[in-house]
Amino acid sequence: KSGFVAIVGRPNVGKSTFLNRVVGQKVAIMSDKAQTTRNKIQGIYTTDDSQIVFLDTPGIHKPQNKLDEYMDKAALSALKEVEAVLFMVSATETRGAGDNYIIDQLKQIEAPVYLIINKIDEIDPNQLLPIMDMYRKAYPWAEVFPISALRGNNVDELLQSLVKTL
Ligand code: GDP
Ligand code: MG
Repeated sequence: KSGFVAIVGRPNVGKSTFLNRVVGQKVAIMSDKAQTTRNKIQGIYTTDDSQIVFLDTPGIHKPQNKLDEYMDKAALSALKEVEAVLFMVSATETRGAGDNYIIDQLKQIEAPVYLIINKIDEIDPNQLLPIMDMYRKAYPWAEVFPISALRGNNVDELLQSLVKTL
């Protein structure tokens, strides 16, 4: 089984840290599935019987002008070609207007969306459930998944779940 997974999220939420942890090899194998030129391959996670190609997509942010609007359309169409989308937020930051905009855009795609709450090692364990509930209420159609990309908590479980969507 193999497929593409896109990662989106604001700067500094931990996207690169996550990729560095899960990606065991640089791009060596090219999947035979269609691939858009706008998507940058960031790395590949492989097991004996599966392969996930992680893609960096152009940023989605509220358009301020015509060029932004064009970029946004390109980003969205890129997301239509993936098997799953990881939307990463940080447990240490409050939900912002930018996040709400991204979520509205993600509602237009069909692939499963995982709302990854990263940096759970930074918060009081008692805060986790309220934060998860808040995101579940805001985005009921997304699978809410808490992790620590830095320490590795729940990362294997996330990968196993992603492999099932391929
Ligand atoms: P990106 O901009 O989304 O790619 O974010 P980075 O991966 O560059 O991470 C930004 C900062 O957050 C770095 O200082 C990371 O070490 C830190 N960071 C990333 N993941 C975690 C995490 O799970 N826990 C903690 N405590 N820090 C993290
Ligand atoms: Mg980065």
